[in-house]
Amino acid sequence: MSMQPTRVTIVGGGVAALEAMIALRNLAEERVAIRLVTPTPEWSYRPLAVLEPFGLGTATRYDLVNISRAHGAAMHLAGVQAVRPDEHELLTWDGRTLDYELLLIAIGAHPTGALPGSVTVKGPGYTGRFRTLLRELEQRRIRRVAFAVPTGATWPLPLYELALMTATHVSRQGLSGVELSIVTPEQEPLELFGPAASEAVRALLAEHDVALHAGHHPAAVGAHELTTVPDGSVPADRVVSLPRLRGRSLPGLPHDPEGFIPTDLHGLVDGQSDVYAAGDATTFPIKQGGLAAQQADAAAESIAARAGAPVEARPFRPVLRGRLLTGGESQYLRADVSGASGDSSSASSEMLWWPPNKIAGRWLAPYLAAHSEELKPPPGLAEDADLTAIKWRAMIGRDRDGHAGFVRVGSDS
Ligand SMILES: Cc1cc2nc3c(=O)[nH]c(=O)nc-3n(C[C@H](O)[C@H](O)[C@H](O)COP(=O)(O)OP(=O)(O)OC[C@H]3O[C@@H](n4cnc5c(N)ncnc54)[C@H](O)[C@@H]3O)c2cc1C
Repeated sequence: MSMQPTRVTIVGGGVAALEAMIALRNLAEERVAIRLVTPTPEWSYRPLAVLEPFGLGTATRYDLVNISRAHGAAMHLAGVQAVRPDEHELLTWDGRTLDYELLLIAIGAHPTGALPGSVTVKGPGYTGRFRTLLRELEQRRIRRVAFAVPTGATWPLPLYELALMTATHVSRQGLSGVELSIVTPEQEPLELFGPAASEAVRALLAEHDVALHAGHHPAAVGAHELTTVPDGSVPADRVVSLPRLRGRSLPGLPHDPEGFIPTDLHGLVDGQSDVYAAGDATTFPIKQGGLAAQQADAAAESIAARAGAPVEARPFRPVLRGRLLTGGESQYLRADVSGASGDSSSASSEMLWWPPNKIAGRWLAPYLAAHSEELKPPPGLAEDADLTAIKWRAMIGRDRDGHAGFVRVGSDS
């Protein structure tokens, strides 16, 4: 076995990238030298963004510098614009080339608005727009809100959470005459999770007085209604919707017509021998953090085995775990969606996995549970809306001086 560690580059700084980094360090130990290439030095825990408009919590932000350092990974602040697999090189947004031995692409997907005129759950502006909607309900300027799952949305759970939390909010505020509804092309609510989960969600919606229009595709937002296909409409003074996701295709790698990267069950990109991909960036149809982490685990095991670690490289076998927030007690939903174990749908108000994180990653979830306080960015910087990569570069530079050079920014030499 070569004494030189295998040089692994991970592109991205989200769920799949972090899960892969932690898994690799634990599985392959010093057999790998890991480099993380990410355009931003922060990671935001998006599933908690649904709490923000209600003042119940925030999408916690984590400092990637600290996480990389803790796992002995070099960090390079850059975006990647292309891959040159034959040369084992990446081209960054600022025109630099970086080499690699093995590469893992985890660049997520791009959210696009699917229903013009709706409040779309994407980007930093969403919280403010949703707060305005809540204020309008409180001031009785609007009465009817439809929560619309657009055709092609790949992870509908956040919309159910917003509908249920709005219902809880309305009830706590004692607002009468409010009509909330969910409009979805699904035949059953959250049908990805199977029959037991759908039944539990149906009961929750009824209990919270949220009407369900299943089997309806939201088509157009009008002044006081949401038009649906097949023929029909749902009264709505405001419509809240999810974005559709598009792939961020990278020149040099294959992609489907929507820009997603095809892989095998070990994450190896079609036609490539040294390039892996995981998470929302891939063609796997359900875009969910827990599944992104499971894909990252499969890729990390394969890479660790290639680096000489005594690890069995198991294929991706998707198991969905969703913690549905309601504004009151959470509902835990679980289903094996690999097709390998028949009907595995379950739902419970008791925790079905541990730690009970929204993103159930085998390595990332326990790590965050153990370190969540120390991983947050310094308070002053985290609150700074004008925070730029330049400021972070300066900060990381100072940090590096004090910390044995684990974090290298701008140069990997
Ligand atoms: C409101 C909301 C609620 C959600 N709730 C849940 C939930 O309850 N449970 C759950 O499991 N999932 C949930 N999800 C989905 C989950 O957040 C995603 O599926 C998950 O983040 C995907 O992980 P990823 O690593 O593939 O992509 P991301 O986490 O999106 O990370 C992509 C990374 O790649 C970087 N990047 C992008 N382009 C480039 C480039 N060219 N070069 C280098 N880096 C690049 C980005 O900066 C980012 O760091 C929710 C999502 C939303 C929006």
